[in-house]
Amino acid sequence: MGSYLSDSILLYHDRLVPWDELFRLTKGEGVDVEAERDALRGVLETVAEICESIEPEAREGWYDHARLEDDEVIHPPHVANGYAKLRDAGIVSFGVLEEYEGVELPAFVANIVLQMISRADGGLMTVVGLQAGVAEDIQKYAPEDLKRQYLPRFASGELQGSMDLTEPQAGSDLGAITTRATEKDGEIRINGEKIWITNGGSQVHLVLARDDDTFEESKGTTRGLSLYLCPRTLPDGTKNGVHVERLEEKLGIHGSPTAAMRFDDAKAWRIGVKGDGFKAMLDLMNNARLGVAAQGIGIAEAALSEAVRYSRERRQFGIPIGDQPLMKNMLARMVLALEGSRALLYRTCTLVDVNRAIRRRLDSDEELAEVERNELEKTFERNETRIRLLTPLAKYLATENCDHITRQAIQVHGGLGFMAESTVGKLHNDAIITTIYEGTSEIQVSFALKEIGKGALFVVVEELRKELDEFHEPPLDEYASKVRGGIEKILGASGALMSDFSYALLCAKLLADAVVDVIVGTELLKQARADERRLDLAASWINRTSLEIEANARRIAEGTVARVERCEKIVELAP
Ligand SMILES: Cc1cc2nc3c(=O)[nH]c(=O)nc-3n(C[C@H](O)[C@H](O)[C@H](O)COP(=O)(O)OP(=O)(O)OC[C@H]3O[C@@H](n4cnc5c(N)ncnc54)[C@H](O)[C@@H]3O)c2cc1C
Repeated sequence: MGSYLSDSILLYHDRLVPWDELFRLTKGEGVDVEAERDALRGVLETVAEICESIEPEAREGWYDHARLEDDEVIHPPHVANGYAKLRDAGIVSFGVLEEYEGVELPAFVANIVLQMISRADGGLMTVVGLQAGVAEDIQKYAPEDLKRQYLPRFASGELQGSMDLTEPQAGSDLGAITTRATEKDGEIRINGEKIWITNGGSQVHLVLARDDDTFEESKGTTRGLSLYLCPRTLPDGTKNGVHVERLEEKLGIHGSPTAAMRFDDAKAWRIGVKGDGFKAMLDLMNNARLGVAAQGIGIAEAALSEAVRYSRERRQFGIPIGDQPLMKNMLARMVLALEGSRALLYRTCTLVDVNRAIRRRLDSDEELAEVERNELEKTFERNETRIRLLTPLAKYLATENCDHITRQAIQVHGGLGFMAESTVGKLHNDAIITTIYEGTSEIQVSFALKEIGKGALFVVVEELRKELDEFHEPPLDEYASKVRGGIEKILGASGALMSDFSYALLCAKLLADAVVDVIVGTELLKQARADERRLDLAASWINRTSLEIEANARRIAEGTVARVERCEKIVELAP
């Protein structure tokens, strides 16, 4: 079906990403923007080609699991072969800076790479995604000697990484972590157990552990946690006390090894500030959340492409099923859900790139005039506030939509979709986990609510209004005005959330959905201005969501904490 390097991606790459601004900030006024942009397009073309070539083996080998042999994890052939192709093309650990021998791709491009890998092989994506994320955290927080020791080997693809947070009693609540880090005679040792660690056989583990000296007083909180780099092989070549206890059997992404880990007096090095590990881990998690959003979009693209193809081939009642009005509506809604998710992810990634570029300029240009420096600092802070709200929303939207789109793709296939060998069935099984790891959907909307409580909604809305004011011509101005109406309804309803925190939490999904609807509506209008073929997409999104925003806003504004009690009473009726 459609090429991995789709028109939707190229629309952003060619027209909507502000490359001029980005490259001038990072590379100075003399930069050849065209050449830089073309080089990134070349990367995307290469990755699209590789991913298209690995898709058949990944589908064929979908049931193949990773194996555990003598404490070593062996990837199934489709993951090992796919990884080798990407590594040989130099497309792994893509956030590593050039000074550590990396390719340093912008977040926008890196996440499209992850999206394409996910479209071909959702399991392989977890290996590559974590490798990139762990390397970025080392780059940001580790001392220089560790960076020099590890980063070039990440960049070459020799090393892979894992992120070790979860314990049996500490899932969403990382304050419950009890893995212990003890410091003695200048050496740090880790003891404890972690579960469900993706690619647990990797050489480099970033472990979130509780420091021994503040263990009792910090228990139950995220204070007193530090982040540790814990290799499976020590620099002198001896084996460290990092063991893979077992690999789990799962519903999907079988190619991605999910390990129970035991740390037995394992030697480790602290990265970042002692007691501040949760903050460093949040950085890694926020990057990873964008990566999982990209994974959701990639898997959904694969399912949608299968569904559209089948709807054209399969004939019932003398016509292709795709010609039935109900089916047309179903497929159109799947495209809307996919493109809405994409719009929010690409908008967020672009903002991340702008802010990285601003930070780099601020840190590197000592001759920056005072006025310009202050202005850039202000923009940076505002953008950070927006990114903190947009990131959980992007993960929530893309992964919930992925779950829905892949399920609908099974429906389009009828009974064939339910057969064990059905591609869309496999894709749906792969989709489910995206709403769970890197923070469940409930945790994402709770995070978003927290940011809204701190004032982020006002900053986001101010930017949206500015963008909407730029639509002067019909019919876009009419839709812009509808989105503005939605914003007013959200702001009007949000006051009701102040009355009670439990009630606010109860409404977190309603609010998140409404906020997502106006952000995506604005973004789709920008797409329609750049490419008029996308007007129907924007119009349909805005017409449909205007009604939903109104309903959500009324639901929020007219309710009280009594609704929480009503839920409790209803649950008591459960069998
Ligand atoms: C395949 C797989 C790979 C994974 N990879 C890794 C990895 O590499 N590294 C790692 O550290 N972890 C990993 N995990 C763990 C994953 O991050 C956790 O499963 C996830 O964070 C949820 O924790 P939990 O499973 O304990 O669920 P729980 O926290 O027990 O949650 C159960 C349910 O309660 C809801 N819930 C919990 N708290 C709240 C709240 N405050 N408000 C509303 N609802 C709430 C959740 O949304 C969920 O629906 C992986 C898990 C899986 C299944």
